[in-house]
Amino acid sequence: MFDPEIEMLSKEKLQELQLERLKKMVKYAYNNVPMYRKRMDDAGVNPTKVANLDDFAKISFTKKDDLRDHYPYGIRAVPLVQINRLHASSGTTGKPTVVSYTENDLRTWGRLMARTYAAAGVTREDIVQNAYGYGLFTGGLGFHYGAEILGCTVIPTATGNTKRQLMMAKDMGSTVLAATPSYAMYLAEAAPKEGYDLQKDFKFKIGMFGAEPWSEEARQRIQNALGLRAHDVYGMSELYGPGVAVECIHQNGLHIWGDEFLVEVIDPDTGEVLPEGSYGEMVFTMLTREAMPLLRYRTRDLATVTWEECECDRFHPRIMRIKGRSDDMLIIGGVNVFPSQVETVLMGMEGVGDQYQIIIDRDILDKLQVKVEVDEKFFKSPDYNAAKFAKKLVDEMTAVMTIRANVELMAPGTLPRTEGKAKRVIDLRKE
Ligand code: ADP
Ligand code: ZN
Repeated sequence: MFDPEIEMLSKEKLQELQLERLKKMVKYAYNNVPMYRKRMDDAGVNPTKVANLDDFAKISFTKKDDLRDHYPYGIRAVPLVQINRLHASSGTTGKPTVVSYTENDLRTWGRLMARTYAAAGVTREDIVQNAYGYGLFTGGLGFHYGAEILGCTVIPTATGNTKRQLMMAKDMGSTVLAATPSYAMYLAEAAPKEGYDLQKDFKFKIGMFGAEPWSEEARQRIQNALGLRAHDVYGMSELYGPGVAVECIHQNGLHIWGDEFLVEVIDPDTGEVLPEGSYGEMVFTMLTREAMPLLRYRTRDLATVTWEECECDRFHPRIMRIKGRSDDMLIIGGVNVFPSQVETVLMGMEGVGDQYQIIIDRDILDKLQVKVEVDEKFFKSPDYNAAKFAKKLVDEMTAVMTIRANVELMAPGTLPRTEGKAKRVIDLRKE
């Protein structure tokens, strides 16, 4: 463990620490951020009298639009001179969402990332190849500094240049791969084509994969192909970046670092706070953020959170696998479909390649079309019968999702690959 004192806190002690920090943070936000002062005044919340989570829940949620409204520097509690770094998230429409960090924030985030690596079993002996994108995206620098603080040897290959990436991995003997799961999958596919032997040429032991949703079935594929243990890492730029939560070596849910983040799970439609263990939208409060305090930030990410003790002896609450974002949910002919459901079906089936694309077309009724690459070996084998295989996929998907999908089988290597986050859904209704 990187921070054993904090990581080993009992549930009671951890919740005590959360409440203590929360009270301080509420006052800090009130005194330093006009938006929060106004909201607390409007809700009749006296920041010096917030004594428990029920009092706290009277403060209204913070939303992504609130950050956009504070463009360019974002919600900010300190003068610009105290800001040490800015990052920004892509933002599909209009201006990016900018987030800021003080020197202390960067230190806190760096230490959280070091803890995140260590929880996954990474040590200072490891050689970390960081294939996340460096730049405004928090992935690159987040995974970079965390590994340095832990004392690892870091190779900042960044995303892309796959040939050089593979050469470095082999020649340097990288033991940890940090990348988006889609890029990890792409590397596994590219390596044999570049003449590498996946079993013999690489020393990868641990994968630090996140920044996008991926299914348990995709995990199995990546683990088998690269011969490593693949850990899920969750975060978002609004909450520093990666390192909000990570799977420990037991790979049974992602520990949210409870000393820095308070999580509530709400009903996304009504905003009601749900009891522990319910499925809903995660809402985060940052407990020590200086530059950009966030109270009750709506992530749009849907999951269940448990406080049960983990086999690793940590009590930091766990996110059981993230199903997707509420914004990603597709409503097709009145039925709710998550892209993750499609992935689960496809990646669990033999003969299906690693790439797929979901296309929603508007005809008279909304139509779901799925382009699926066939696994190379299967494609070339005498057993392959396209019509029969397509029917099998349609039946399986219909059974799970309750709506019919049209399946188009694609030859291996024909769908677009991504180096960063995959774009697997094309909604023609929105274009
Ligand atoms: P943007 O994509 O807008 O640039 P971020 O890079 O901060 O912003 O992305 C954050 C979002 O990515 C999260 O809200 C979540 O939906 C998704 N995400 C990040 N890590 C994971 C993960 N491990 N599993 C599922 N989704 C994830
Ligand atoms: Zn654990």
